[in-house]
Amino acid sequence: MSEAFPDSSQMQQWHQGIEMADRNNIFCHCRICSYEWVDSMTDAVCSQCGSKDVEHISCWQFPDD
Ligand SMILES: [Zn+2]
Repeated sequence: MSEAFPDSSQMQQWHQGIEMADRNNIFCHCRICSYEWVDSMTDAVCSQCGSKDVEHISCWQFPDD
């Protein structure tokens, strides 16, 4: 009679957790000096050379190559 549906509120919490993690774990790579760090914003400036030519990659979204 009663089927086990997944708890939708738990699912939502899980989704929000992913979004939070994404927000606070943006992998940054400076194209000028190759410095790499993790930041919480996508407009971060390289702290080593001050360049804004920075590549931003969400930690769970690394490209294959
Ligand atoms: Zn740099």
